[in-house]
Amino acid sequence: MRVRYGRARHQVVRVERGRAETVVHLAGFFAHAPREIQQALATWMRSGRRAPRATRELDHWIEQRVRALAAAAPREVRLEARGRHHDLARIAAELLGSEFAGDALGDAPAIGWGRARGSRSRRSLRLGSFDPVDRAVRLHPVLDSRGVPEWFVRYVLFHELLHAVLDAPSRKPGRRIVHGPEFRRRERAYRDHSRALEWEKRQIHALIRCARAGEPFVERKTQRKPPERSSWLQKLLF
Ligand SMILES: [Zn+2]
Repeated sequence: MRVRYGRARHQVVRVERGRAETVVHLAGFFAHAPREIQQALATWMRSGRRAPRATRELDHWIEQRVRALAAAAPREVRLEARGRHHDLARIAAELLGSEFAGDALGDAPAIGWGRARGSRSRRSLRLGSFDPVDRAVRLHPVLDSRGVPEWFVRYVLFHELLHAVLDAPSRKPGRRIVHGPEFRRRERAYRDHSRALEWEKRQIHALIRCARAGEPFVERKTQRKPPERSSWLQKLLF
C-alpha cells in the first residue's frame, strides 16, 4: 500500500485499489492526523459504511480540518467570472440579492469558470463544484456556451452557492455528495429546479460529449428517450 499526500481540493480521501497495490490519496493534513483518526481511516477503508462510528469520527475530523484550513489560508484564488456567453458575477449577484438575501454568507466565495480539462469519464460530468478550502465555486466551461440557457447556468450556480451557504464540503469519504435535508428542501423550493433537472437529463449526453471534445455545447434537437437507468441519474453529479 502506498500513501500519497496532495491538496484537499477535490477529495480529501480517495482509495485506488489496484491489482498489485492500493494507493491512498490523502489531503496533506492527514500527515498530522492523531492516532485514533489513523485508526478510524483504516477501519473505514476496510469496512466502509459497515463501520458507522469510524466513518462519523473521520467525517467529523475532516470537517474540522477543512474549516480550519479555510479559516487560516488567505484566499488567493483568482477566477474568471466573465465567460464568452455567461457572466457568472452578474448572475451570482442576482442570486445573492434574491435567493440568498436572508443568508449570512460571511466571506463571499470566489466564483468563476473552471478550466477545461479532458474529462475522463464518458458517463458523468461535474457541472460545478464548491471547494470549501479556498471557498471557490467553479462551473464547468462547457456551460459557457450559447446553447446553454442562462436559467440553467443560474441553477447550477445556485446549487454550488447553496453548498457555500450551508458551509459543508461537497464531498466526504466514500465520495458521498453531501446534500442534506435542508439542502434538498432549498433546492426543491428553487423556481427552476424541475425544469433544470429535466433539461439536464435531456442534454447530459450532449454536454458530456462536448465537454470531452472541448467544444461549445450545441443543443440536441432530435431527442432520443432520456436515460432511464437510475444509476445514470445518480451520475449527474455536481
Ligand atoms: Zn452538490
